[in-house]
Amino acid sequence: VSTLVVQGDARAADPLYKDPSQPVEVRMNDLLGRMSLTEKLGQMTQAERKFISTAGMRDLRIGSVMAGGGEGPAPQSPQVWADLYDSFQRAALETPLGIPMMFGIDAVHGASHVRGATIFPHNVGLGATRDPGLVERIGRVTATEVAATGIDWTYSPCVCVARDDHWGRVYESFGETPENPSAMTSLITGLQGPSLNSSTSILATAKHYVGDGGTTGGDDQGNTAVSEAELRAVHLPPFRAAVQRNVASVMVSYSSWNGAKMHGHRYLLMDVLKGELGFQGFVTTDWDGIEKVDGQFGFTPEDVRTAVNAGIDSFMITEQYANFIGLLRAEVDAGRVPMSRIDDANRRILRKKFELGLFERPFADRGTSSTVGSREHRAIAREAVQKSQVVLKNSGALPLPQAPGKLFVAGKSADNIGLQSGGWTMTWQGGDGPITPGTTVLQGIRNTVAPGTTVTYNRNGDGIDASYRAAIAVIGEKPYAEYEGDREDDLRLDAEDRAVLARLKAAGLPVVTVILSGRPLDITAELPDLSALIAGWLPGTEGQGVADVLFGAVRPTGTLPVSWARNVGQQPINAGDGKSALFPYGFGLTYAPVIPLPDPPQPDSRWNARDTIRAEYFTGQQGTQLEQCTDAGCGKAVGYVSPGDHIDFDSVDFGGTSPNAVTLRIASGASSGNVEFRLDSPTGPVVATAPVSPTGGWESWVDLTVPVAGATGKHRLYL
Ligand code: BGC
Repeated sequence: VSTLVVQGDARAADPLYKDPSQPVEVRMNDLLGRMSLTEKLGQMTQAERKFISTAGMRDLRIGSVMAGGGEGPAPQSPQVWADLYDSFQRAALETPLGIPMMFGIDAVHGASHVRGATIFPHNVGLGATRDPGLVERIGRVTATEVAATGIDWTYSPCVCVARDDHWGRVYESFGETPENPSAMTSLITGLQGPSLNSSTSILATAKHYVGDGGTTGGDDQGNTAVSEAELRAVHLPPFRAAVQRNVASVMVSYSSWNGAKMHGHRYLLMDVLKGELGFQGFVTTDWDGIEKVDGQFGFTPEDVRTAVNAGIDSFMITEQYANFIGLLRAEVDAGRVPMSRIDDANRRILRKKFELGLFERPFADRGTSSTVGSREHRAIAREAVQKSQVVLKNSGALPLPQAPGKLFVAGKSADNIGLQSGGWTMTWQGGDGPITPGTTVLQGIRNTVAPGTTVTYNRNGDGIDASYRAAIAVIGEKPYAEYEGDREDDLRLDAEDRAVLARLKAAGLPVVTVILSGRPLDITAELPDLSALIAGWLPGTEGQGVADVLFGAVRPTGTLPVSWARNVGQQPINAGDGKSALFPYGFGLTYAPVIPLPDPPQPDSRWNARDTIRAEYFTGQQGTQLEQCTDAGCGKAVGYVSPGDHIDFDSVDFGGTSPNAVTLRIASGASSGNVEFRLDSPTGPVVATAPVSPTGGWESWVDLTVPVAGATGKHRLYL
């Protein structure tokens, strides 16, 4: 008996492309030979998960799915993401050739789409570390946590060279010179790992090609009016470095070069990137980038033809994917887009799918989800925060003495994970408040001071007096992303921050200021009154790293990756341009460590990321009120209790997002002393104490760590 297997024949029992022992090129060419035009056009298309069903994806043979802004279904747990991923993957595998799909996400500073993940400093802070080895390790951690959600492709790193601080994406840049973003392409090596064929490796994307950070006036998606020599000297080098690191994909910039849109730029995409630089991966559009080919709203057959022929391989067509596929088919049928171009695009995309091992391991590997937000990962993030702090001024106030006494902390950014994390965290624009578990700067300070030290926090700086030995102000920007963060104003501190600094100054204490912002702000007027100033950038979830520098547990080593302007009139201001900055590129002060490194704040051993209970209180008129909070905010009154009283509630009524996540806000009529509360849940009691705010308002709260996993029974709250 003999069996005849014809190589490359669709009738063969075991098609070559399914045989993992074959070389990738053999498998890829075998598969390509079996694909219909429909399948080829589908491979070139990425649809947004909100706008496509699994059936629609299967029927159109769509090759990739994505989630814009990293926004996913609540509660954005690894499990929920993995379920979403697997549902699309099942649909992809139901197609005749069973080509697995890929899923793309903006995991731009850690697995920033996952609640409970380790969130690292944004790139501008990583630029300040000048430590490519650290950044590579961050890439490894990020890939591990992303891969635990099934997702295999991140739209990161942004290797933009940010030249003007008006731009809302300065914080996504490793710095204003080509050197830093080029060196930090080590992130790509970390993300992609030693081999793509691993359950902890994901595809990286160098973006946005090219010149996104060089637009006139720092306009997001604007025009970069520079000579070719300057484009090549300033903006191209990080892409060259990324290609040398074998980056899987490159995302095209929304911007233009001397009036010509990058999404149709054949010379820069085809000749320079793929030709001269030798890029072997695939080029993707930005979100609906096809609409940016001619600057007109929507897209036409000509836009599709121009973009494909310019060298774009993969199209992030969020909602209009069917329309795109139809137009591209017509262009191919008419011979205006050559089949060779379609085949080249497919080869580039399929090669990565084979390299990822997707044909062998198409589904999410849930075995690694326990690493999400692990102690080991958070320790690396803390190190990154320490190394990213740039000490700009110190007239002797730093390091802060750890000795007992009274410390006063003020400012909107002191106790706010959302503000620490900035944009691209849980949502596109980022959020305000406890958007994901982490350590705020205030918690880091409380964890570091010597026993016997009282740390008082008031957001506005109210209640400060001469009995305190120092005041610490933590101020800065509120989260934003992309053009929403473009600023045309004077880049000064906001009114709230200016008021806080004025109040602290009036108290006559030494004021140490930490500024958490995505770019240098104009602080020239306030600087003379500050005893010390630290640029903390957007540190992410590990605020302990800021406290480590404040108290001298580590030697500050961060240096400016961007020039710090005296005033907005100096923009654009960049290294080597002869302008006199307030603090020049590369600047950073230091001092010797004076205390041992404190242990990280200990989360309750029964605590895990999904089991978040948060309680807040304020002084009000109506006794003590318990309110239900959801992602949309607090306000739904559950009932009133007096001290000694209790209130019962059912956990499934709360939180809105998960039966394991309950968020509470406690309002107290008291105006001094402590509010104590105890939560009895089916898995045991938890007691917490919160000092009453002297002024009322929502500015103080405590975290309750309560093991409610899987518990849907009655909870009882005592006050
Ligand atoms: C941004 C990209 C991002 C994409 C997907 C676009 O608006 O410019 O950087 O990767 O959205 O969310």
